[in-house]
Amino acid sequence: MTVRVPAKVNLQLGVGPIRDDGYHDLVNVFHAVSLFDMVTAEPARELEVHVQAAPYSRVAIGGVPTDDDNLAAKAARLVAERLGVEPRVALRIRKAIPVAGGMAGGSADAAAALVACARLWDDRDRPVLSRDDLMEIGADLGSDVPFAVLGGTAVGVGRGERLTPALTRGTFHWVFATADGGLSTPAVYGECDRLRLEAGRAAPWPSVSEQLMTALATGDAKGLGDALSNDLQPAALSLRPALRRTIDAGRDLGAIGALVSGSGPTCAFLAETAEDAADLAAALDGTGVAEQVVRASGPVPGATVV
Ligand code: ATP
Repeated sequence: MTVRVPAKVNLQLGVGPIRDDGYHDLVNVFHAVSLFDMVTAEPARELEVHVQAAPYSRVAIGGVPTDDDNLAAKAARLVAERLGVEPRVALRIRKAIPVAGGMAGGSADAAAALVACARLWDDRDRPVLSRDDLMEIGADLGSDVPFAVLGGTAVGVGRGERLTPALTRGTFHWVFATADGGLSTPAVYGECDRLRLEAGRAAPWPSVSEQLMTALATGDAKGLGDALSNDLQPAALSLRPALRRTIDAGRDLGAIGALVSGSGPTCAFLAETAEDAADLAAALDGTGVAEQVVRASGPVPGATVV
């Protein structure tokens, strides 16, 4: 059972004030792009996790756990529990999504494991677990997991886990610049809080950008480029100042939109056409500001059995 699962880029990431439970209220416009991890689940004597870089990808898999800390293993255990079976499965993860890159690679693998294990263990004809159930189980593992099950483009509120699909038209063309070494998501949120405190500014209550939703619905790439926003970007740039050079290089080379993806350090650039994206990727690669430059398009479906 092999499942293909996409990376995400946040087209809008609005971060509200910190809540009593330590989380932030978010407005999150998720967009799934054609950069995929593959997760294969096969029956085994006990739960095993194997991780490798996908062919042709230069993903550094060193930081990915192969024990119960792997989000895919946690996902497998939750599905087994719900179906009342033992989690006797070997999970083979082939990663093309950068690790700790702000593209939700771990959450993607968890989503893929949910779908793969449900296929493996659930009743074929009368499944106990629906896709909605898998999204609900996934929410316990992290707020990006339900979206990786759903895919497409969707608006998330709360901690980001309550999702509404967004109307989009056509395909958008992206170039991603990965960086050496990841950024820890909690550290980036912490820096965001620190910068806000230092500036003496209360965090505004985030709301979905109308301009963004209109650009998506009409397939207006330029409008989308203008509307991209990420409240975590100042924090990511503060922790990793070199990213500013990457963003500036992409803009100088003609990107119609540029931002740090999620908590970074991957930077995302929007191009108007597939040809423009190819040109931009080649030019950006030549500048040496990125560890690796990858092209992708979106939206694409969520975790899918192949
Ligand atoms: P997000 O965009 O959701 O903040 P990210 O893309 O920045 O996430 P991930 O690649 O999901 O970050 O990984 C963050 C950390 O999670 C890794 O450093 C690793 O320790 C841990 N992790 C657990 N399971 C996985 C997995 N299957 N793949 C990658 N990392 C995993």
